[in-house]
Amino acid sequence: MKEEILKSLKKDTICVHGSGKRDPLARAVSFPIYQSSTFAFESTRDALEVFDERKPGYVYTRWGNPTIEYLEEMMALLEGGQSALITSSGMAALSTLVFTLAKTGDNIVTQPILYGGSYSFFKGFAPRVGIEARFAQDPVHENIEKLIDERTKLIYIETPANPTLMIVDIAECAKVAKKYGIPLAVDNTFATSYLQNPLSFGADIVLHSATKYINGHADTVGGVLVGSKEFIEKAKKEVLRELGGVIDPFGAWLMIRGLKTLAVRMERHCANAKALAEFLNSHKKVDKVYYPGLPSHKGHEIAKKQMRDFGGMLSFELKGGREAGEKLMDQLKVMILAVSLGDVGTLITHPASSTHRQYSKEELKAFGLSEGLVRVSVGIENTEDLIRDMEQALEKI
Ligand SMILES: *Cc1c(COP(=O)(O)O)cnc(C)c1O
Repeated sequence: MKEEILKSLKKDTICVHGSGKRDPLARAVSFPIYQSSTFAFESTRDALEVFDERKPGYVYTRWGNPTIEYLEEMMALLEGGQSALITSSGMAALSTLVFTLAKTGDNIVTQPILYGGSYSFFKGFAPRVGIEARFAQDPVHENIEKLIDERTKLIYIETPANPTLMIVDIAECAKVAKKYGIPLAVDNTFATSYLQNPLSFGADIVLHSATKYINGHADTVGGVLVGSKEFIEKAKKEVLRELGGVIDPFGAWLMIRGLKTLAVRMERHCANAKALAEFLNSHKKVDKVYYPGLPSHKGHEIAKKQMRDFGGMLSFELKGGREAGEKLMDQLKVMILAVSLGDVGTLITHPASSTHRQYSKEELKAFGLSEGLVRVSVGIENTEDLIRDMEQALEKI
């Protein structure tokens, strides 16, 4: 599609059509899966020119692949960034991001309420290579500045943050980042590119675990980085090629297919989550509900400012604590007891015993993560079926 047409299109249209690029052989409506590890050259001279980037072409899938590139173009368009990079997982996106910007002796300023894997990467792995992570408590935008020094190479936030749906003010963090000339990266996994675009609030880099809503069907693992052309080129050529965390072309194709329905899926995820949050909020056995769409949520006003809608994730605490939470999950008939999120089906987890078990009891307490907290990734099923499932399980505890 022509550049000016592409620029005028809304996100739901981009989800369906991408950049409108067609494969040159058959103009297939579904972009093909180039399931090939390597690509043939016409001659040694041709090989040399492609290698030196004097001529467009492909060499080896770890360096680039047409199906993966198609997805990269889609993600850059959806986030409003110059370029994107697809990785084999969200964690591969995180390690690629960190090693592109930081080296031994540097530090990163982030928050303690994070996806469990990101927290253990910062807390456990990064120090092994001499990169220190510093954790800013809520309200994050007020607490990052005092942790910054001349060796700070990245400010890394997640919003809404897993698992308490804490909201971080992107624009306010961007102001601090700009003041010190440090790049701000935002994990946009929970909100998705349809509901929130951190670059438009001054962030420099967006990260996704594409395993979740981008793919949407719980059948493959992948990650995304979006940012300036310069940053993405560096991440791709100097880090990802070396670390090797590239996605398989078929995995990339599953994500292209998943993206086609992102907008409609998110609308239903949001509507169902809102209905379930309101139901839980008025139930006598429920102590607290964390959903950014509820006016009682601490981050509601900021969420309203930076999100199109409030997303499909919620968590809640039962008056009966951990024991009641475990009992509840065993009674559910429709919702699936499983980690991960962003699937079309409703997934329910108990973070203290699964995704966040690497936090000590003291850390859980200090970060406001209750042991009885139950997290729900609300799917796109019929709303009444979901509420009825929850209602019958609550009756039994
Ligand atoms: C799942 C997740 C990740 C890690 O992604 P993987 O694809 O599992 O490697 C990072 N951030 C958030 C918010 C996540 O939910």
